[in-house]
Amino acid sequence: MRILVYNHLTNKMEKYDRNLNDPMPYSKDRYLTVKEFRGSSKSDVLWTDRRAIEAFNKLRNLYGKPIKVGYAFKRIGEGGHAGMSQHYAGQAFDIAQGMPKLERDKIRNLAIKNKMFTYVEPASLTPTWVHVDKRDKNPACPTRRVSISKARQ
Ligand SMILES: [Zn+2]
Repeated sequence: MRILVYNHLTNKMEKYDRNLNDPMPYSKDRYLTVKEFRGSSKSDVLWTDRRAIEAFNKLRNLYGKPIKVGYAFKRIGEGGHAGMSQHYAGQAFDIAQGMPKLERDKIRNLAIKNKMFTYVEPASLTPTWVHVDKRDKNPACPTRRVSISKARQ
């Protein structure tokens, strides 16, 4: 399995060859395996950002117990997501599937309180799992300023 990881400290894309049962690059111990990160994706090439993996390490450390990871990575067209999804960038994790609601709430609240992720989906939208992602707050392209009155025309 080829894994590409953007390292913000060197501004370089790093290449790794890993098996499904190996830990993801930058994963502490075996917090996150390649298999968990890949989920149901059929892709043999995966990509992510070092900061996303490190955010998951932090959440896992704070929680202090294994966290079930349903999946993280999706290729466009692999279904289940809107046109723009952080899963396509390898920056999002859908976790805590099948765990008791109390534990899921604990994980969600730890993520909200400690701000290691940029976005935590509210429980009302993802009642049976927890979606967290490390999206970049800055747009890749400058946004055009369109006044509300113009936008409505
Ligand atoms: Zn998600």
